[in-house]
Amino acid sequence: MALFARNLQKCLCKTTNTGIWSKSNIASLAALSEEHRMLQKTCRAFADDELKPMAAKTDREHLYPTAAIEKMGDLGLMGITVPEQYGGAGLDYLAYAIAMEEISRGCASAGVIMSAHNSLYLWPIMQFGSDAQKEKNVAGFTDGKKIGCFALSEPGNGSDAGAASTTASEVGGQFNLNGSKSWITNAFEAKASVLFATTSKDLKHKGISAFIVPMPVEGLTLGKKEDKLGIRGSSTCMLMFEDAKIPKENLLGKPGDGFKIAMMTLDGGRIGIASQALGIAQASLELAAEYASKRLAFGKPLTRLQTIQNKLADMSLALESARLLTWRAAWLKDQHMPYVKEAAMAKLAASEAATLLSHQCIQILGGMGYVSDMPAERHYRDARITEIYEGTSEIQKLVIAGNLIKEMGL
Ligand SMILES: Cc1cc2nc3c(=O)[nH]c(=O)nc-3n(C[C@H](O)[C@H](O)[C@H](O)COP(=O)(O)OP(=O)(O)OC[C@H]3O[C@@H](n4cnc5c(N)ncnc54)[C@H](O)[C@@H]3O)c2cc1C
Repeated sequence: MALFARNLQKCLCKTTNTGIWSKSNIASLAALSEEHRMLQKTCRAFADDELKPMAAKTDREHLYPTAAIEKMGDLGLMGITVPEQYGGAGLDYLAYAIAMEEISRGCASAGVIMSAHNSLYLWPIMQFGSDAQKEKNVAGFTDGKKIGCFALSEPGNGSDAGAASTTASEVGGQFNLNGSKSWITNAFEAKASVLFATTSKDLKHKGISAFIVPMPVEGLTLGKKEDKLGIRGSSTCMLMFEDAKIPKENLLGKPGDGFKIAMMTLDGGRIGIASQALGIAQASLELAAEYASKRLAFGKPLTRLQTIQNKLADMSLALESARLLTWRAAWLKDQHMPYVKEAAMAKLAASEAATLLSHQCIQILGGMGYVSDMPAERHYRDARITEIYEGTSEIQKLVIAGNLIKEMGL
């Protein structure tokens, strides 16, 4: 598998390096390049063969899927946009979106582990880190064995991220971290975190700085593993710091850059969560359609009933609209064009699609949708978080409207 992954990466790198996307226009998104289709096929087969069979147990027993994540590392998915120089696959963001959807179609927990690691941990270090920081904290974090996390939210502030109360005070050539971060995905397995803390309280959000924090570290205690509604194979918990000492060279970017780094990271991260939502929605649609084609009611398959057909039509319309928005946002990011509004639109549309499709999937399955013998109820539980993390739907609307008003010069 590793050999195949390397060949696949070589092939895909060639595509992205020759700038195939810069020559194409947005209409090309309707028909992916051969290389992107190959990646999609590989990830889909992996999801069918390796993820789907273990997804129910992962969810039921709250198991971190170690073996699957390591295999995803072999496939190049745990450093998918990281350049080869640092051990990554060197692919573009559209490739990331495509792979994320397929992985989440198989197991949404594996999807969020991959997403938090790629978009929230590796990306800001690649974007804002020094060569030495990349060597130390990216290379070696791309094989699925070492995982990273992103610590922005706090017990007192989630959406209002600029109100961070965790502090980092410079004492004797190092930073002393004090305070708590909440809801941190991958925290139990993480070997490092990109973390945000206030270095100058008076400057408010402009006084927040970003740090790379090794884990475990003296002075850091992990809270209890949260008992979540969905994505239960991923760990989520609090990080509590009491005089944890961080070397000065672990400052990411300049002092006071933290809020900007966090917001830029989340802009790209939303494409990952949108793709996770697409995967859950796609799994729901496939399950609903397959079930409806076999289940007889009033002497004929459900698929022959117009009410069920209407549901399937609404489901596929919501899914495909959201997918186009998501791929457009990824494509814009790859072109280094503005994509903040588009990423927020993609996340909003895809997360609402995931909720709608998983809800309707249960409806089409009837009683079988409500029990854990079938994955419909898990898709419904997994879908819900996509409307909350990396900015709630309400926050996406603020981002969309803010950018729209600015674009219109109003
Ligand atoms: C499973 C899980 C994993 C997570 N993983 C991470 C992680 O890895 N790293 C991390 O840093 N965080 C993580 N989070 C935190 C997540 O990003 C926050 O929960 C989210 O941003 C919302 O913040 P909050 O929970 O504090 O809600 P609040 O900010 O308190 O919001 C509560 C409600 O008020 C609404 N609201 C707030 N402000 C406004 C406004 N200005 N206008 C309109 N409505 C508003 C919200 O939309 C929401 O409906 C995770 C959360 C969960 C549940």
